[in-house]
Amino acid sequence: MDDLLIRGGHVIDGSGAPGREADVSVLDGRVAAVEPRSARPARRVIDARGQVVAPGLIDIHTHSDFTLPLNPRAESKIRQGVTLEVVGNCGFSVAPVLPGRAEMQREYLASSAPWLPFRESTFADYVAGFPPTSVNVILQVGHNTLRLMTAGLENRPVTAAELGAMERMLEEALTAGAWGLSSGLFTAPGNFADAAEIHALARLLRRHGAAYSTHMRDESDQVFEAVREAVQVAEATGVHVQIAHLKLSGVNNWGGAAKLLAEIEAARRRGVPVDCDAYPYDTATNPLRNLLPRWVMEGGIPAMLERLRVRDVRTRIRDEIARSGLTNFGRIPSWDVVRVAISPQMPENAGRTLGDIARSRSVDPIDAVADYVVADRGETRILITSMTDADVHEITRAPWVTVGSDGNALAVTGITGQGKPHPRYYGTHAHVLGPCVRDLRLFSLEAAVAKMTGVAARALGLRDRGTLRAGAWADVVVFDPARITDRSTYEEPHRYAAGISAVLVNGQVTIDGGDHTGALSGRVIKRTT
Ligand SMILES: [Zn+2]
Repeated sequence: MDDLLIRGGHVIDGSGAPGREADVSVLDGRVAAVEPRSARPARRVIDARGQVVAPGLIDIHTHSDFTLPLNPRAESKIRQGVTLEVVGNCGFSVAPVLPGRAEMQREYLASSAPWLPFRESTFADYVAGFPPTSVNVILQVGHNTLRLMTAGLENRPVTAAELGAMERMLEEALTAGAWGLSSGLFTAPGNFADAAEIHALARLLRRHGAAYSTHMRDESDQVFEAVREAVQVAEATGVHVQIAHLKLSGVNNWGGAAKLLAEIEAARRRGVPVDCDAYPYDTATNPLRNLLPRWVMEGGIPAMLERLRVRDVRTRIRDEIARSGLTNFGRIPSWDVVRVAISPQMPENAGRTLGDIARSRSVDPIDAVADYVVADRGETRILITSMTDADVHEITRAPWVTVGSDGNALAVTGITGQGKPHPRYYGTHAHVLGPCVRDLRLFSLEAAVAKMTGVAARALGLRDRGTLRAGAWADVVVFDPARITDRSTYEEPHRYAAGISAVLVNGQVTIDGGDHTGALSGRVIKRTT
């Protein structure tokens, strides 16, 4: 007898094929059969009439390694039908932490993981101690983390000995099950790395059959050069490259989506193993300090805070921003597009714009920003509206572009329910299945599902997840295609998505009638060679 029968639903299997009426049987964590009018007996039947039954959604780019230990039920994700998160992105990973470096790591990640405790650990320790969670998790090791552990935040090439140490830590992480390496070349210390350093690590990944993902060196005025740098890693080493959260930031670059997609498509046509993901929002989120010129962070966070008090430093920052726009984000119309999301030392400012903060203090915006970074010890996270809808829609629409929320698994109650985080943490996948299909008509429902399941699984090299077929792991979502929607907004971000009635993770019912059952049946999916 099967464990479960999902009866009468409209099955969209993740392959991109048209949906069809079928019943889905589940036994021992796997899909046992997908067939019309099944006669297989089951201990429990879920009535899915009028609803879509699809593979569990893959959130291919997230930072939930910062919150899953605090929110193992992964509420904001599982309530969208997400059953797998790829974490350790943008060069940031919680491990490894070498002896004596835990405080440096805590300080470095405070604007991303303000509530997470850090301790000395190998990657194997980290994997072994990773808590049971409601979602499956793929872990990556971060290049910024490896560099922080060897050369700190120093602006220089690593020595041969340091590169050797990074390679040993990478190898240790891969052996412990890490899927691959992520880089964050947009910020210190990743931006101090040259191509030779990245290629050396990529060759090691290739030897282990592991993957590389990158938050590129630039997403604004040098975005085309940055794409070429990422493609070059794949071309030179043969490693699979995942370009994270593809976007065109800054007014100078608006309207360039078609050309940017064409650049990547040309590489794919040449057979270069490169994929990319995006989130469907015109607003990014980042530490406030990352908007400043890169030299501001040289030498570490305490050095940065000291530097930002100096009047001449502020003048230099003001001149550089006037000349070439913000680091990473390019030119913005005004500081009114930059909004405080989470401010650990000054939580009352969540939701206020930096423009408003400057006006209320009658100070110049650069002074307001510098003062803010100092007062909040560099820990402030902001929202910045620096893209256009037209580009976002064009990128989202491409069938080969997968969906990564770039967000954390949060919950409306408890420690992760604080501040005003980006609504994408709660809404990305529901937004794609609902408003992007029904209102914006960017693609069919089948294409939307495929981007977040079959196409994503292929980019990851996952064979037994991402399509609903006999033998695959039973990660399944059941939703109402007319009702599914995100409800999270910039003003009220802590709202779960609507329209999802059931979610299975490795065959366990985790969302049942719209409610979380408490099941923690996700597992760390380790790379195997
Ligand atoms: Zn990133």
